Amino acid sequence: MKKGTISTMNDMEAFTEKKRLRAIVAKRLSRMTDSTTHLVTEAETIDEFVKRKDIEVWAEAEDLDVSGGLPIRERPKIGKLLSLEFLDEWDVLIIYKLDRGFRNHLDFVTFYHEYCERYGKKIISVGEEGLDMSTPMGRMFAGILVQFAEWELQSIGERRRQGQNVLRREARYGGGRYPFGYEPYQVGAYWYLRPHPIYAREVEQMALAIVSGKSARGIALDLSERGIPTGWAAQQAQRGKSPKTYFWTGAQVIRLLRSERIRGYVMHYAPETPRTPVRVVGADGEFVRREPLIDDELWFKVQAALDASVRPKSGIRFGASLLLRVGFCGYCGGALHQAFDNRHDREYRYYRCENIRNKHNKAQRRCGKLGSVPQDVLNEAIAAKLLEVIGKYELTEKRLIEGDDHSVTLKKLGMQIADLTTQHYVNNGAPDFHKRMQELEAEHARVSALPREKPKVRKVATGKTFRQHWKDMDDEQRHAYLKSGGAHVLVVRKEDYTARKEELAVRTASEQGTQAADDLILDIPMNVVTEAGGKYVANIGLGTLREQFQHVAAA
Ligand SMILES: [Zn+2]
Repeated sequence: MKKGTISTMNDMEAFTEKKRLRAIVAKRLSRMTDSTTHLVTEAETIDEFVKRKDIEVWAEAEDLDVSGGLPIRERPKIGKLLSLEFLDEWDVLIIYKLDRGFRNHLDFVTFYHEYCERYGKKIISVGEEGLDMSTPMGRMFAGILVQFAEWELQSIGERRRQGQNVLRREARYGGGRYPFGYEPYQVGAYWYLRPHPIYAREVEQMALAIVSGKSARGIALDLSERGIPTGWAAQQAQRGKSPKTYFWTGAQVIRLLRSERIRGYVMHYAPETPRTPVRVVGADGEFVRREPLIDDELWFKVQAALDASVRPKSGIRFGASLLLRVGFCGYCGGALHQAFDNRHDREYRYYRCENIRNKHNKAQRRCGKLGSVPQDVLNEAIAAKLLEVIGKYELTEKRLIEGDDHSVTLKKLGMQIADLTTQHYVNNGAPDFHKRMQELEAEHARVSALPREKPKVRKVATGKTFRQHWKDMDDEQRHAYLKSGGAHVLVVRKEDYTARKEELAVRTASEQGTQAADDLILDIPMNVVTEAGGKYVANIGLGTLREQFQHVAAA
């Protein structure tokens, strides 16, 4: 305990009776106090405290929450008030919470010892039950709180979600188009944007719908049907105009959900590059953000869902049939192709060897032995055999368990680096560019060096037998299933089967690769043979389908 601390306290109490304490009050965003309940609470708490204790407010400062930023005495506004030239003007520094006043424990301890003790100043944190640091207990408590604050600083994203960093002066709304989900409002001489009480919720619903697999077009239809105005229409309505009609398109939905503005970033649309807006960086070097409509986590999920929805499908062409690139000619190994034949106003579908002699086939290989195999006949025979052999087994699924490779964090840091660079070189320059960049790069290097968890593959039961699964799929899905499992069907005419039996067996076995006989799973053979329509014999190689099954668990 420092000598004289307690008597100082008593002196202060006595002093108070003679003369009012004069305070520097560090309020955040004082002119925005009606913008969020959070800020209201803070301002009210401080005001009430000052009134109750009859403290005279000598000065107010606003720039306390420079997250992760400068030591308190180096910050532009509060730092000036704390300079030696004003030492005689005030007695206490009043803040709402310690973690907004000090960037870490060292910052606090340094300030306390080198400043407060030396010049006889007090710190009062009203948010922490009027914590008074002139008492030993208060100092100990403060130490713990500041350590906590230090830990909290490491999760800046979390702080943002709590809305502690919202609505900086740079987040003013200067007129013009604003995104669906926001509404303008005025405080003093300036306009700002805040989440619209109804439409902000619509944006969240849209995001959740996309993540759950709904199409942008479906969402657009739903919005139009429910009479939700588009961003433009809502803006017209705000101005007292009422557009006669409006309807949503899928493209509009995608554009909105792709926008960084819905997660609160204030974007700058340079006239030269209106299609590639950049995020605005504030005077403190941080990106300027408004209260977001959806949080970062959901926003990234939405982007991933939108990315996935534009990826090309599995490559199945229209009209694909069960055995394309799965069935092959048993004589030459050629792939089975579809052939159509119209007779008596009926369409007949066949499989034919790709090397069949016809006017389209100019290749050297000629194979006319297989002929035309009716599709229905072969498809049904294959399906029946599969159901007979594996129908009763329960299907399992390989599921990829993602390890944390820190890619999300690195992606975010990468975007920050890119934006800061753009801001610095393309736009008007970024304050503290080199310092900010150094910090971002150091953080990137640190996260990159963290150990990565590898993704794991785990086999999980689906609760479905092969039979149920097969029934639930249409022909395209069945085709994709067989193909992805490496199933392989060789077809010959029945009369040739006996003669070529060994050769066929060898061929299919060799295509299984190095799998040995003792690798049999659940007694499922690598190949099964079935007859099709009395004229053909098919040898079905099960490929990796065999590895997907397990016995149905006893109930
Ligand atoms: Zn052939």
